[in-house]
Amino acid sequence: MGIQKDQIINLDAIVVGAGFSGLYMLYRFRKAGLNTQVFESADGVGGVWHKNRYPGARCDNESYQYNYTFSEELYKEWTWSSRYPEQSEILDYLNYVADKFDLRRDLQLNTKITAARYNEEDNRWKIETDAGTKYSAKYFITGVGCLSAANVPNFKGLDSFEGEWYHTSQWPKEKVDFTGKRVGVIGTGSTGVQAIPVIAKEAGHLTVFQRTAQYSVPARNYTYDYETIQKAKENFQETKRQMRESFVGSAHIEEPRPSAIEDTPEEQEKVYERAWEKGGASLLLETYADLLANDESNETASEFVRKKINQIVKDPETAKKLTPTYRIGTKRIVMDTNYFETYNRENVSLVDVKANPIVEITPKGIKTTNGEYELDMIVFATGYDAMTGSLFKIDIRGRNGISLQEKWENGEQTRTYLGVATAGFPNMFMITGPESPSVFSNVPVSIEQHVEWISDCIEYLREHDIEVVEAKVESEDEWSKHCREVGESLLFVKTDSWYTGANIPGKPRRFLIYLGGVGPYREKCSEIAANGYEGFSLLTSLKKA
Ligand code: NAP
Repeated sequence: MGIQKDQIINLDAIVVGAGFSGLYMLYRFRKAGLNTQVFESADGVGGVWHKNRYPGARCDNESYQYNYTFSEELYKEWTWSSRYPEQSEILDYLNYVADKFDLRRDLQLNTKITAARYNEEDNRWKIETDAGTKYSAKYFITGVGCLSAANVPNFKGLDSFEGEWYHTSQWPKEKVDFTGKRVGVIGTGSTGVQAIPVIAKEAGHLTVFQRTAQYSVPARNYTYDYETIQKAKENFQETKRQMRESFVGSAHIEEPRPSAIEDTPEEQEKVYERAWEKGGASLLLETYADLLANDESNETASEFVRKKINQIVKDPETAKKLTPTYRIGTKRIVMDTNYFETYNRENVSLVDVKANPIVEITPKGIKTTNGEYELDMIVFATGYDAMTGSLFKIDIRGRNGISLQEKWENGEQTRTYLGVATAGFPNMFMITGPESPSVFSNVPVSIEQHVEWISDCIEYLREHDIEVVEAKVESEDEWSKHCREVGESLLFVKTDSWYTGANIPGKPRRFLIYLGGVGPYREKCSEIAANGYEGFSLLTSLKKA
C-alpha cells in the first residue's frame, strides 16, 4: 500500500546527508535499534565526493588515514591506489561502504529536506521533503558537511553568457570537454589550484581570474606499492589511536621544532626544504609549532614559499602577481600538482581581479575594469558558504518557532555547545557543526567522533527514560566564548577567508572552528558524557522545559 495524502511517517531518527557522516550515523543508529531514515538530495551516496567531480579533484589528506576506522575489517578489505586518490576512488569507497553494511535500504536519494520543525507538544521533529512527504522523528541529525553550499558570486549578467558555465561543486557527470576552448577559471583556492593544471592541458587557452594570490605546496602524490599498503593495514590500530589523539586527526606526524625564530636562517631553510620535498601538509605541521601563532615565525615560512613561487614561474610579471602577501596557513593551505608550473605554459594567462575587479559577465565572456576577456566556458571555483550555509538551506526551527538562521545570524550570532548541539533545538545534533574541530582536522576522524558521541548519547537517553536533551544556554555561551578565545589567540582571524565567513558578502564574521585540537576535544566530549551529559538539560517527562 502506498503512502496516503497527509500521512505522517513516524521514525526514531532522521539524518540529512549521505556522505561520510550520514552513512556512519545510519550504521550506528541501526546497531542501536533506532528506526532511521537518511535523506540525500543527490542521486547517489558520497556527499561532497559525489558532487565535486571537477577535473583534478582529489583528497589532500593521506588516503590510508582519510577513511573510516570504526571497522578493522573494512579498513583491511579496502586498498587505496595512491597517497592522494582521485574523487572517483573516494566515491567508490563510500559506495562500497554503503553496500557492505547494507545501508541503502534506509536511504532515500533525490530527496531534499526542506523544513524541520520541533513540536513542543510531543517533543518530536516534523520533517518535510521536496517530494511532499511528511515525517515525524524523535531525533533530527544533520550530516550536511561544512563545505557543501556552493558560493556562486552574484555577478551581473551571468544569465546572458552564451557559453557554458559550471561551479566546481556541482559538476556534471558527463565529461566536460575543454578541447580547444577558451576557458576562464575564477578562483584559486584548493579547488581552483587542483583544476587549473588539468584544464590547461586540454583547453585552447586558459585565463585564470585570481583575486588573492595563494600559497600552495607540492602534494607529491605517488602510487602506493604493495609494501606501503601492507604496512598501513598492519598498523591499523596504532594509526587509529594516533589519529584520534592527535591535534589535527592525522597519524605519523613528525614532531615540529618549537619556533622558527629560535633557529638560524640556514636551519630554517633546511627544515622548510625538507618539508617541501616531502610534500603535503608537512610544511605547516612538521616544521615549527608556532607558525600559526607567531607573526615573525609565520613570515619565515611565508617567505620560503614566496621564493619557491618566484623560482618556478618564469615570467617575472606573472610571478609577482602569483606571490601571496597574507600569512601562510591563515587561509586553508593548498596542495598542488604542477600548479605554479602551469603558468609557464603558452596557453595560460593570469588576470589579477583584485587590481581590476570583475564588473560583469557579458554574452561573450568576463569584463573587468581593465577590459573584456572572450571565453567559451567559465568555471567558478569560488568555494562555499562554509560552516553554516548548508544548515541554513533547510528551514530548521526549534522552540517557539525560531529558526536556526534567526538565532545565529540575526540574534546572538552562531553559538553551539561543543559544535554538536545548540540551545532551543532539543533532540537535534549536528555532525561536525560550527565550533567543533571539523574542517581543521582530517574530517572523517571528526565525523566518527561526533557520530559515536551522538549515538552513545541517544543510547544513554533511552536507558534512562529521558525524552529531551537540550544544550543549556550557559553551556553554549561558555563553549562559544572558549572557542572564540582559542581562535583569537591564533593568526587565522587576521586574514579574510571562508574560515571567518569573509568570502560571503554580508555574512557575520566569526571563526567557527574549534582549534583546541582533535584529541583534547575528544577528551572534553567524553568527559561531558561520563558526567551524565553535563551542560545539557535532560527531561524525563513530556512537560515543556
Ligand atoms: P575557497 O578556498 O573559498 O576559494 C575560492 C576562490 O574563489 C578564492 O580564490 C577566492 O578569492 C575566489 N573568489 C570567490 N569569490 C570571488 C569573486 N567574487 N571574485 C573573484 N574571485 C572570487 O574555495 P575552494 O577552493 O572550493 O576550497 C574550499 C575548501 O574546500 C578548501 O579550503 C578545502 O578545505 C576544501 N577542499 C579540499 C580539497 C582537497 O581535499 N584537496 C579540494 C577542494 C576543496 P579570495 O581568496 O580573494 O576570496
